[in-house]
Amino acid sequence: MSIEDNLKNIHSNIYEACKVSKRNPNDVTIIAVTKYVSINTARQALSAGVHHLGENRDEGFLHKQSEITENVNWHFIGSVQSRKVKEIIGHIDYLHSLDRISLAKEIQKRSDRIIKCFVQVNVSGEHSKHGMNPGDVQTFVEKLSQYDRIKVVGLMTMAPHIDDEARLRKVFRELKQLQQNVQALKLEHAPCTELSMGMSNDYTIAVEEGATFIRIGTSLVGKEM
Ligand SMILES: *Cc1c(COP(=O)(O)O)cnc(C)c1O
Repeated sequence: MSIEDNLKNIHSNIYEACKVSKRNPNDVTIIAVTKYVSINTARQALSAGVHHLGENRDEGFLHKQSEITENVNWHFIGSVQSRKVKEIIGHIDYLHSLDRISLAKEIQKRSDRIIKCFVQVNVSGEHSKHGMNPGDVQTFVEKLSQYDRIKVVGLMTMAPHIDDEARLRKVFRELKQLQQNVQALKLEHAPCTELSMGMSNDYTIAVEEGATFIRIGTSLVGKEM
């Protein structure tokens, strides 16, 4: 299947999921995750109508960006080592993996503008997953008010790689609950209106549960490497 066909499929799944949950499909943004594909393939996603690209490693990210001149919203979705912040921070529109104060400090030091950040939460509690404990999110977000280069636009999670729909749904619901709790604080630096959740295997459930950004690699652009 072509990327155009994949995208059509994804749009139609989003449409259905929004119908179920009485949401507006326009409130769901697709991020094409291009970490497994070439620059050419990433370009095809752009021609097909995607405006957001996501990468999870600094090398891949900087390389793609240096070759792609189209107007793109760039998302950094992988975990960031503090010492790599200075290399990428000037190049990203959204960071999906803010999960510690030391990283916030480094962003504050290295950025000359406000970075839209998602706080990454390890909702499922898997040891292999990055992100903070759900119980620490609120205090963490409150502390971020000290860093005026950081705007908390929302929360992000990676669900476990399983087929158990009920368990996935529970993870997404929990993230949404946390997001609403933070939003209710009405913090100027943390509007926290967005939910970055849902990947190739689980985005339909994520959209039903309120995702506003879905990060799709394999089922949109495939896997070449
Ligand atoms: C790779 C990756 C994705 C996309 O995964 P697919 O299963 O290929 O859709 C989404 N989010 C993060 C953080 C990733 O690292």
